[in-house]
Amino acid sequence: MYVILMIIMVVGLIVLLEKLADIDSSNNGNTTYNEQGQKCCPYCGSTHFQYAGQQIYGARPEKTKTRYTANLNPLRPFTLVNKKEKVVKKARSGYAVDEFICLNCGNRFR
Ligand SMILES: [Zn+2]
Repeated sequence: MYVILMIIMVVGLIVLLEKLADIDSSNNGNTTYNEQGQKCCPYCGSTHFQYAGQQIYGARPEKTKTRYTANLNPLRPFTLVNKKEKVVKKARSGYAVDEFICLNCGNRFR
């Protein structure tokens, strides 16, 4: 019984590692270099490109949930409702990526 569980765990681990490797290679595959080691356009291979500024990925504002409940506290007679705010999702600053525009074909790349 334990042997079967061990095999399932090992297989699951291998699949997970392969997925992680896929994510890594897809991130690196965006920047293309030519034979001279210069950064170039991934479509036409031209080294004539312009800096297009920084693009921010993965940023999101804080998401909160607000709940109102009737005030039952006799020591606070002028408060009608109690307001409770709960952070559902924390804010993320994201990460900045330099983007370039190819002057040959107009392609945007990192
Ligand atoms: Zn190009």
